[in-house]
Amino acid sequence: MKIVNTIEEVRAIVKEWKDNGLSVGLVPTMGYLHEGHASLIKKASQENDRVVVSDFVNPTQFAPNEDFESYPRDIAHDCAIAEENGADIIFNPSAEEMYDSNATTFVNMTGITEELCGKTRPTHFKGVCTVVTKLFNIVTPDRAYFGQKDAQQLAIIMKMVKELNFGIEIVPCPIIREFDGLAKSSRNTYLSTEERKAALILNKSLNEVKKMIFDGEKDTSVLKAKLTQVIHTEPLAKIDYAEIVSFPDIVPLTYAKGDFLVAVAVYIGRTRLIDNFIIENGTEK
Ligand code: AMP
Repeated sequence: MKIVNTIEEVRAIVKEWKDNGLSVGLVPTMGYLHEGHASLIKKASQENDRVVVSDFVNPTQFAPNEDFESYPRDIAHDCAIAEENGADIIFNPSAEEMYDSNATTFVNMTGITEELCGKTRPTHFKGVCTVVTKLFNIVTPDRAYFGQKDAQQLAIIMKMVKELNFGIEIVPCPIIREFDGLAKSSRNTYLSTEERKAALILNKSLNEVKKMIFDGEKDTSVLKAKLTQVIHTEPLAKIDYAEIVSFPDIVPLTYAKGDFLVAVAVYIGRTRLIDNFIIENGTEK
């Protein structure tokens, strides 16, 4: 596996692959790779001749008060995981390589980006859509792999690809969890021992609501009240949102019907964590 830091070099390597008729999968990440990322890389390597993993803590998707500076970074560890799971290139550009200091072009979607995470992180998805567009233009993959862990992001990228005619297949990948149900996240590293235990409340609240749904409850105000009530049993938890929206349209629902997403964002101490499940055709996706 090769570490590449420049756009020019990635383009040259991908061009050679394509000239030889090889298919290319892209796994965009912010690094500090764990088993969640590994599952995407593995799937990409099973479905494509060559795999590029991008490893870039994207400054434009962080607001000034967020954790861009402290976001965990470990490129040596990332290389080991990427290689083990079949990556051919890890693309690790600097911020200067990716962005002109006076850049004026951004990809900004309305509506879908304004719900859920977009309410408290109003500039986040503009940064995500811009960097993903740039990565798509740099790597020109046949397929790109995104985790359902970030369900709203997945829905946004699918819509963006359709509306901007990227001609790239977006492959959704299931959430990978710790042994006790906590969704794997690079941000779990911020949690103290006590907070790590408290963080289980996200998955616990989702599981309780999932049970109510399978028992026939459809009223989202009842279901959301349950999410809130369960999360409030944990003193270290502070709710950002607990929502039920259509999937992949991300429109708030009065009744949990059709294909829908139940999603929570919760602060455990200073760490903001997200988790969710999707019901598609009456069963969990
Ligand atoms: P990140 O590095 O957090 O930006 O994530 C990069 C990609 O990995 C995104 O598509 C995420 O949805 C995905 N991902 C992160 N955590 C998980 C997880 N626990 N399970 C599955 N995919 C994940």
